[in-house]
Amino acid sequence: MASPAASRGGVMPRVLSGLQEALCRLPGVGPKSAQRMAYHLLQHDRAGATQLAAALQHALTDLRHCRRCNTFSETELCERCASPHRDATRLCVVETPIDMNMLEQTQAYQGLYYVLMGRVSPLDGMPPQALALEKLVERVADEKVEEVILATNYTNEGEATAHYLSALLANKGVTVSRLARGVPVGGELEFVDPGTLAQALRERIGYSCAARSPGKTP
Ligand SMILES: [Zn+2]
Repeated sequence: MASPAASRGGVMPRVLSGLQEALCRLPGVGPKSAQRMAYHLLQHDRAGATQLAAALQHALTDLRHCRRCNTFSETELCERCASPHRDATRLCVVETPIDMNMLEQTQAYQGLYYVLMGRVSPLDGMPPQALALEKLVERVADEKVEEVILATNYTNEGEATAHYLSALLANKGVTVSRLARGVPVGGELEFVDPGTLAQALRERIGYSCAARSPGKTP
């Protein structure tokens, strides 16, 4: 019989407290949520628990990083990098595969990507050297890239990363651009924060009725 171990919620079997600790590693999951998840899986959804364990093991075993863009992939080259239909002259740099998926969902971009799998954040143990940025620089030098779009987040770390990358890519013969900031689609100025509004003013673009005519792709 497993010896009981003390936990924040009282006394529970060591195996259960181990599961709770493991679930606590997930972002945004605290001890109470982890305890609820553990009890739910074991008491009400044992088939789901088995599926979860198998899917996790499968992902750990079979996923690797795409040789070209660094995102997760089951094959050496991911589907996008292997596609002959993507515009290889444009390279969009994002922090995570989730960011890449968000941009893909817009269907407004047909170029390729480079996924940093992180961002420059020395305080969190992520100095620039930890991001393997030389792979990105090599790719820009070796391939027919004409524009690098910096699509890192507009957080302090994302901005620091974009700043570092722009310095790294200076004089490499490519145009370096950054995602624009501004008023959201459907947004009313009354509810936009002053920082975003100021940025939208500074980064305003030319406007004409011709550019807004129906059926015209932006
Ligand atoms: Zn790829």
